[in-house]
Parts: sequence; structure tokens; C-alpha cells
Amino acid sequence: MDYDVIIVGASIAGCTAATAYGRAGLRVALVERHRSPQAHKTLCGHFVLGGTRDVLRRTGLWQPMLAQGAAVTTGLGVWTGAGWVVPRPDSGVPPAISLRRSKLDPLLRGIADATPGVDLLLGRRVVGLVENAAGAVVGVVTSNGGAERAELRARLVVGADGHRSTVARLARVAEDRAPNHRFLFWAYYEGATMNGPGDGQVWSLDPDIAVCVPVDDGLTQVGVFPAKDRLPEFTAGRVAAFDRFVARLPDGPSLAGARRVSNLIGTTDYPCIRRDPTPRPGLALIGDAATASDPVPAVGCGWAFRSASWLADSTAGALASGADLRRALRSYRKAHRFIDRYDALGRQDALAQPPGTLQRAVRTAAVTDPYVARRLAMFAMRAADPSVLLNPRVALRALVGSGVRRSRGAASVPAAGR
Ligand SMILES: Cc1cc2nc3c(=O)[nH]c(=O)nc-3n(C[C@H](O)[C@H](O)[C@H](O)COP(=O)(O)OP(=O)(O)OC[C@H]3O[C@@H](n4cnc5c(N)ncnc54)[C@H](O)[C@@H]3O)c2cc1C
Repeated sequence: MDYDVIIVGASIAGCTAATAYGRAGLRVALVERHRSPQAHKTLCGHFVLGGTRDVLRRTGLWQPMLAQGAAVTTGLGVWTGAGWVVPRPDSGVPPAISLRRSKLDPLLRGIADATPGVDLLLGRRVVGLVENAAGAVVGVVTSNGGAERAELRARLVVGADGHRSTVARLARVAEDRAPNHRFLFWAYYEGATMNGPGDGQVWSLDPDIAVCVPVDDGLTQVGVFPAKDRLPEFTAGRVAAFDRFVARLPDGPSLAGARRVSNLIGTTDYPCIRRDPTPRPGLALIGDAATASDPVPAVGCGWAFRSASWLADSTAGALASGADLRRALRSYRKAHRFIDRYDALGRQDALAQPPGTLQRAVRTAAVTDPYVARRLAMFAMRAADPSVLLNPRVALRALVGSGVRRSRGAASVPAAGR
């Protein structure tokens, strides 16, 4: 074998996995179609939820991200229509971190490249898979963009090549797609002032959503995620519709004296895609190649870091010792269920339907009840299993709490942003 593991795609998931495998003493080929080590994804909001903090610390990536100027958000205020929910500073909800991909991707690639055992192969696009007679994947075929083809072999091939995964297509992996009924645009500002509570804000406007969070270089990122019935308004005049939307946010940011330092970035259609993360013997998928979720709850980068780390944890020992990989891959499959559970809920949210009675009750109760607020924040940060919020105790407390609040005359849901 040429390598112990071949990883296709040197972005978040691929670099995280390559670094972990290299540190475990394995020989790793990290294959990337882009030629420049500075290449980066542009269509990404890069807000990494707090649930990823522990993995980033354990893999030694948190500090280098801070050193590049990443902004840390410790207390995200959530506008619910019934008021603001802000978890207490001592609530133990892990902070989010944000570093633009123009800095994050080269940073991760540099760390992977400097790890002994990792060969970063830039300018090589994977165009084929090598399979043995039993149907196991045992290698890849790469192209340099010209006539040159090269074959690499390894015990494990990892598809970390994003939501359009070529590896998955070549391996004939089934794709489970679900619609996304929102679209999204954001921009970066210099000199914006936040007026909501906490050090960042999210507005749940049912069905629209908006965010305002700090990013690196002291910039503020303002994003809008409207339901698709507002597409005509944005098609008629994207910047004007964006500005109107932001201006109507309750306690929204002041942008009058601020300078917009980017174009509006976004997309009008981004369906959710899910694939089996261990679809074939000798093959695993991580990051977006396995689960490309709705971008609105900002889960994808975290899933990429976490799934890569879980795969390396599950399989490095077997790869090093020459033990059977099937068991190790089953262990990765099991860890990945954490993402599957959230993705199932995310697909419901992506339909942009009005919230149900319980969802409304939880949000309303969280405004005044720190217990519910903490659980809502842990859920939103993907810092614990969904059952941290979705359990009978929280449901009962929320229903009772929100009922009490209503009887005292709580604020009604405003038609903010519409
Ligand atoms: C509009 C939008 C906003 C988002 N905002 C957020 C956010 O705020 N927070 C968040 O957590 N997530 C966000 N996401 C999701 C996030 O961008 C992705 O989940 C994340 O980039 C996944 O990382 P990855 O490493 O799996 O894949 P990618 O970052 O897509 O990387 C795939 C890599 O594989 C390489 N590659 C592809 N094909 C080949 C091939 N054949 N051969 C060799 N190399 C190949 C590519 O060049 C690339 O380097 C957003 C997504 C979108 C679309």
C-alpha cells in the first residue's frame, strides 16, 4: 500500500482528519483539486457553534484560530417574539468561534501539511476509485488537469470533498435530498454597533431568521435568512431588500455609520443532502460529503470538524495495528448518529413552517426561565444531544411557564422584518 489512508479534499473535514491521522503515526495522502494552499471556500458563514469547542481544543486548533484573530461569541441573544433569551454567563454553554474561510482554510491546510506523515497533494483532482474484486474501495485515481493520471492505494479512502462529493458519486452512494425553503445573504461591516443583548444576536421571526455576530478583524457579520416567499423582493433589488430587512429587526444593529466591506454573499437555493457515512468497505465520508445540512443554523463547519475527528478516533488504532477496519467504521457510524439526529430536526426547520405549540412555549418560557434558556442554548450550539431540550421535563416546564407568562400579558409576536 502507498498510504494508510487517502483523504480526498483539503478543507475543514479533510485537513482535520489528516492532521489527526498524521499525529497517530499514519501515512496520509491529502488530495486537493485546488493548486494554491491559499484556496478557500467563499460560500460559507463560518460561524462555528459552541458544541465544536471541545473538539477544536482537543485537536489543538482553537488557539491557532484565535491567533489568526477569530472572534469568540460567549452569549448569543435570541429574539423570540416574546422577548430576548440570553443564557447566563455561568450557564456553561460553550462559546462559538468565527474566522473567515480566507484565513481558516489556509490555516488548517498549513497545520495538516506540517504534520509528519501527511503528504498534501495539491492540484490533484480525484477522478476514479480503485476497487478490489470484493467491491471494497482500495484507492483513488487522480488527474493533474492534463493527461497525467496517478493511482494511489490505501486501506481506507475518505471522501471529504464537500456536498457535491465526487467520491460518493464514483462509489455509487445513494443521496437523500430534502428541500430548503429559505435563502440567505450576508455582508461584513466595519463600525457596526450591536443594539441587542449579548455579544451576538439571532432573530427568530417565524419564518424568517436573521443574525448579527462578530468575526475576525473586528468586523461584524449581518445575515438574513428569509423564507422563499420573499425571493421576488430580493430579486427586484437585493441590497435594498437586505437593508430594509435589517432596519426592521427589533434591537437590530445600527449600520448607518458603518461601512459595508463586502458584497452581499449568499445563495437562493441550498437543499439538504445526506449520505451514508460508511457506504462501502474501505470507504468513509466526512463533513458535507456525509451531511450537508441547512446552512441557517450554522452547523456544517462544526459537523466537518467533529465527523473528521470521530472518524480518526474510531479508525486510527485499527489502521496502525492492521486490525479489521469494519468494526472501527461501525464505531464511526455510531458516533455520526449525533449529527443524523440533529439533521432530521434541521430538515423540518428548513421547511420554514410556523412553529408548533411546544416550540413556541419553549421559546416563551426561555425568556424568563434560566433552566429552559440554558437548554435552548445548549441545543442551538449543538453542545449536547437534542434530548437536552426535547424531553418531557423541559416540555412540561415550558408549557406551564409560558402559560403563566401569557396569563400575565406577555408581549405578542411582532411581524418584525416583514
Ligand atoms: C451559504 C452557506 C453558508 C454557510 N454558513 C455556515 C456557517 O455559518 N457555519 C457553519 O458551521 N457552516 C456553514 N456552512 C456550511 C459549511 O460551509 C460546510 O459545512 C463546510 O464547508 C463543510 O466542510 P467540508 O470540509 O466537509 O467540505 P468543503 O469545505 O466543501 O471542502 C471540500 C474540499 O474538497 C475539495 N474537492 C472537491 N472535489 C474534489 C476532487 N474530486 N478531488 C480533490 N479535491 C476535491 C474541494 O476543493 C474542497 O477543498 C455554510 C454553507 C453555505 C452553503
